[in-house]
Amino acid sequence: MTAIKACWGCGNTGSFRYFKAFERMYGLKQEFLYFECPKCRSIQIDETPENLGDFYSTDYYAFTPLNRSSPIKIVLKKWRWKLFKSNIIKWKIPEYYDWIKNLNILPESKIADIGCGNGQLLYEMRSCGFTNLYGYDPFLQEEYDESGLKMIKTDFMSLDLQFDAVMLHHSFEHMSDPTKVMEKLSTLLKKGGELLVRVPVSDSQIWQEEDINWFQLDAPRHLFIPSVRSLKAMGDKFGLKLKKLIFDSNEFQILITKHYKKGGSLVNFSIESFTSEEITQAMEMAKKYNEKEVGDQACFYFEKL
Ligand SMILES: [Zn+2]
Repeated sequence: MTAIKACWGCGNTGSFRYFKAFERMYGLKQEFLYFECPKCRSIQIDETPENLGDFYSTDYYAFTPLNRSSPIKIVLKKWRWKLFKSNIIKWKIPEYYDWIKNLNILPESKIADIGCGNGQLLYEMRSCGFTNLYGYDPFLQEEYDESGLKMIKTDFMSLDLQFDAVMLHHSFEHMSDPTKVMEKLSTLLKKGGELLVRVPVSDSQIWQEEDINWFQLDAPRHLFIPSVRSLKAMGDKFGLKLKKLIFDSNEFQILITKHYKKGGSLVNFSIESFTSEEITQAMEMAKKYNEKEVGDQACFYFEKL
């Protein structure tokens, strides 16, 4: 007897729209069954593959070595962040400034990055002057414990700690049972603490228009892609109030999806195959999508009540 299938987002058990998606990152073309929930619009894999680890090759983010900065560069990075925080510089800044500037954090705040990959973001944050950083990733190659930055190879579900801020940068969609994940994230936060979830969203226009060619479907690594509505509701359930939502999609939703549509895979994607005009157009399109809140990814800022 097969168990009744339920949406991980809202618990709905029926009338799913089933579809088949292909592995496209490595061009394996293997097929996986997914469904979209008609109630909360989340996308979910039908069965999590038992050999999921086989679909993360050695060049995956967690496996690449940390790119360290020289002591001089670290001093310069600390100054760049200070000048940015004081509104003195506003451009030519690294992308991650945009993600962390909206968190209400101090240099000594205790901050965790769940699914930290090789920990590069935390390393950069330490260079900015943050002194109490923790990274967790079950695929981490090298554990790290050096003044103010600790990276541990573990599944965060077993943690018994509390943080001022917790971040998930494109790791939430790789986890099964997202409701349990949100519940755990809530327990990891102090009252008034903040949670940043950066994730692809099913509200995206590119998903509506290009269906299974949308590159952030990323079968079978992406197990669950929420809609804005479903992730907000999941937060509400565990005392996590959505305070801010910023769409941060970029030109790759258009360019890589176009490449997939022609039968390409991510490993043979090259930005050089597009003209500068096509790239500019895609960037403008992404900007428009973000303004209309139909970009293919967003930053969710929750506050623990
Ligand atoms: Zn649902």
